[in-house]
Amino acid sequence: MTRDEPRRRIPRTDQLLAQPDVQREHGRLSEGRIRRIVQEAQEQARRGELAPEDVAEAVINTISVTDAASLRPVLNATGVVVHTNLGRAPLSDAARAALLAAAGYVDVELDLATGQRSRRGAAAREALLAVCPGAEDALIVNNGAAALVLATTALAGTGEVVISRGELIEIGAGFRLPDLIASTGSRLREVGTTNRTHLNDYADALGPDTGCLLKVHPSNFRISGFTSGVDIGRLRGLAAEHGVPLVVDLGSGLPNRDLLLPDEPDLSGALSAGADVVIASGDKLLGGPQAGLLLGRAEVIARLARHPLARAVRADKLTLAALEATLAGGPTPVAEALHADPDRLRERAERLAAAVGGELVQHDGRVGGGGAPEVPLPGWAVRLPAAVARPLRVGDPAVLPRVHGGACLLDLRCIPEGEDERLLTALHSAIAATRLAGSPNTADGTG
Ligand SMILES: *Cc1c(COP(=O)(O)O)cnc(C)c1O
Repeated sequence: MTRDEPRRRIPRTDQLLAQPDVQREHGRLSEGRIRRIVQEAQEQARRGELAPEDVAEAVINTISVTDAASLRPVLNATGVVVHTNLGRAPLSDAARAALLAAAGYVDVELDLATGQRSRRGAAAREALLAVCPGAEDALIVNNGAAALVLATTALAGTGEVVISRGELIEIGAGFRLPDLIASTGSRLREVGTTNRTHLNDYADALGPDTGCLLKVHPSNFRISGFTSGVDIGRLRGLAAEHGVPLVVDLGSGLPNRDLLLPDEPDLSGALSAGADVVIASGDKLLGGPQAGLLLGRAEVIARLARHPLARAVRADKLTLAALEATLAGGPTPVAEALHADPDRLRERAERLAAAVGGELVQHDGRVGGGGAPEVPLPGWAVRLPAAVARPLRVGDPAVLPRVHGGACLLDLRCIPEGEDERLLTALHSAIAATRLAGSPNTADGTG
């Protein structure tokens, strides 16, 4: 069987595993991971894609470039600050350090002075209350969706959640607010119409079945024209009259007003307007780790914390550590990107454009993450042929540009200035790769 001959020359698994270069990697990679690499190389050889005598070397090469974790850091050159596909908010230096410290044993639920058990995440809670003094208490859960599920489950149970038809939103990636609420067993009581809801609509719906009033900030779109809604202040009166809690889901989580984003509601503002509980995500405009934040009246937060579901959605020590450090540490990368000085962005982009033969163009960044959909963040970009985009994405460091209008655009807003040199190196390699791969047309054209 000459056809089987090469197959018989493929090294056996135990031989491959016994190589010193493979043995050495056992502290870094699991036995299972190493075995999978070995099996993949053997498979390739069986399919005739790899010569049997090259299998051992292929295994060693693959192992040497394999890390235990495969998520790759990316330079975000899109100009979109809270980029969902890139994990939303990049963490501050303080938050990164806190994450690392919390990776080992930490006093997340222990008072070291007394040796007694303490309230879990007390420090993160205090840091939240420090930036939102209008809240009496706070609870931190896994994410915004979990916070909403907990609030409606604990406050409405199988009763009704009263909400305007203009606020039945889909955020993206399978997050449909009405479906989420229905999944908890609560009943949605929709009031008003898509474009107009009045105080009377809410008043007519309130009754013995009402569990809570819910107001949701429609983060990612705007309805304009013949519209009207009822603000938190007016709902407050109605909620008090009927003795039902008023829950406000803000989504983005600005602790206080930001003049750059005049239409983006903030936690403190919603609380002072009369919300009993406000809900926000930790990794949108707050610029921290993924988390669901619930802030508000002590009695309502206590009801949420006591509910059995609270245990199922609680935040882990890493989240608590990073959140506290986000709030107590220096400016977050999200805040810095939002408020980047356009003149400085222009200087940096100009320098980059000159170094790689790109064109400097005006470019608006975006808040992203469903926030402030219509607010442009004026800045600059380096314009290159679209063919550069792929080598940039798969290069080292990986760079995600914006591909738009047949061109590759690099906006430096979300790239820390200290990374400009690495970006330049990545660009040189990507442009060189484009020249190697394609005809001169691919490299110079815009298509
Ligand atoms: C983003 C968002 C959520 C969901 O929060 P996650 O942290 O993504 O789970 C809920 N409500 C609103 C209004 C949002 O914008």
